[in-house]
Amino acid sequence: MNQKAYSIDLHTHSTASDGTNTPSELVKLAISHGKLHHTHSILSLTDHDTVSGIKEFMDESSKYPNQITAIPGLEFSTYYKEETIHILGYGIDQSNPHLLSSLQHYRDSRDGRNEKIIQKLQEHGISITMEDIMPKNPEDSIGRPLMAQYMLRHNYVSSIKEAFNRYLGDGKCCYVERERPTPEEVVSLIHEAGGIAVMAHPVLYKKLSFEELKKFTCHLKEIGLDGMEIYYSRNSQEDTTRYMKLADSLGLLHTGGSDYHGSVKPDLSLFTGAGDLNVKEEVLTIMQALGMTYKK
Ligand code: AMP
Ligand code: ZN
Ligand code: FE
Ligand code: FE
Repeated sequence: MNQKAYSIDLHTHSTASDGTNTPSELVKLAISHGKLHHTHSILSLTDHDTVSGIKEFMDESSKYPNQITAIPGLEFSTYYKEETIHILGYGIDQSNPHLLSSLQHYRDSRDGRNEKIIQKLQEHGISITMEDIMPKNPEDSIGRPLMAQYMLRHNYVSSIKEAFNRYLGDGKCCYVERERPTPEEVVSLIHEAGGIAVMAHPVLYKKLSFEELKKFTCHLKEIGLDGMEIYYSRNSQEDTTRYMKLADSLGLLHTGGSDYHGSVKPDLSLFTGAGDLNVKEEVLTIMQALGMTYKK
């Protein structure tokens, strides 16, 4: 068998949103993985609705040019019908003023929502305040997993999953909606910031039938979507094949990643996802599309 040249993961979260590793720690984990497997790591940081971890991520990676190539990214939450649709942006200029002001706007709407969730949790007998989940950096993005972690630490629940199933999950007693941009807005925002726009993890859109997903993806392609996340931790082999066919029929680039969040999603590892994730080298065409180079 040919030795793999690269270990690739284009979907990861850090403490800048709801992951438990700092951006620098992610880089170090990737380098250790590469040493063990004799591969060059290609890693993207894709925090939810923020680029506040990107500088640290790129700076740390630049210390190890022979071991790692870093791609700046982010993951936007958008909506379509009843479904939450995530759009990944790669190769974005993290100082683009329009991108930054839009991200600020959506983070502000998260703050209002978080206060409402906290109030509901208190009404359900959970002693938690905004201060308990406040990040160090005001540009970090606070999401429900931080509340779930707090509840786990203080023994209100015995797992993150239970916190979502009982309190925080969509439609559960402490769930609160929040303002989200449309996929159309997000695709153009990513393009304006020089990036490419990719539909994340189609396998998670359970509220859409495959026919609906097809129609929706076709529409997004028409408005400029560049790619689809073909390799993903929660896919079966059949899912991957199906999405690959769909992407190819529309001329979308392939990407892939684990959605690593550290101990918030303890079953997902960097690069290998739930164990059998293998993001193929073909996804590096996104780097060509971005005009980025990587070590051969
Ligand atoms: P938020 O950004 O506050 O809407 O939270 C989104 C985050 O919560 C994402 O990382 C999701 O993976 C996570 N999440 C949503 N539903 C669940 C669930 N039922 N179990 C575990 N994590 C979840
Ligand atoms: Zn997350
Ligand atoms: Fe996502
Ligand atoms: Fe994600």
